[in-house]
Amino acid sequence: MSELSTVILDRIRDVADYPKPGVMFKDITPLLSDPVAFTAVVDELAGLHQVDKIVGIEARGFILAAPVAYRAGAGFVPVRKKGKLPAATLEESYDLEYGSATIEVHTDAFAPGDRVLIVDDVLATGGTAKAAVELVERAGAHVLGIAVLMELAFLRGRDRLDGVDVRSLVVV
Ligand code: IMP
Repeated sequence: MSELSTVILDRIRDVADYPKPGVMFKDITPLLSDPVAFTAVVDELAGLHQVDKIVGIEARGFILAAPVAYRAGAGFVPVRKKGKLPAATLEESYDLEYGSATIEVHTDAFAPGDRVLIVDDVLATGGTAKAAVELVERAGAHVLGIAVLMELAFLRGRDRLDGVDVRSLVVV
């Protein structure tokens, strides 16, 4: 295991029964509050691909994606839950365990063919990431990859992202 993986694993806290009974939530706040670890994570994510835009997925994805965009010299584009973006949007819906969710991006967020890296904190079932890829491609950009801090391999999110370059700094 790389030194960075160890640093990350040591600073992600398991919280039992959050947000509901039976779920073991991966809490990244201890990592974010450690300046050396946070900087190392941002630098690693910023070096993965040469891109024009970094897309962050609401809400924890924003915390990583904005400094990654700054570090990479790229623009930052938010993908938000429905109803939060002020101007004209495209939307994409996806299934959750119970019900569904809808995410949106501004229609003019990208120049045609912009190269994009999508950043989020955790890849679980892959539903959010898959919807984000489809949304960004429909908005006229080209997704070079998805990067997450942590991948929960047992939920097989990667299997839903066939053909997408998925990078995880740690896999559990
Ligand atoms: P998925 O759509 O099932 O892959 O879930 C991924 C989304 O849910 C990401 O936007 C994550 O921020 C969030 N998520 C799922 N599980 C966790 C967790 O254990 N910790 C933090 N975020 C999580």
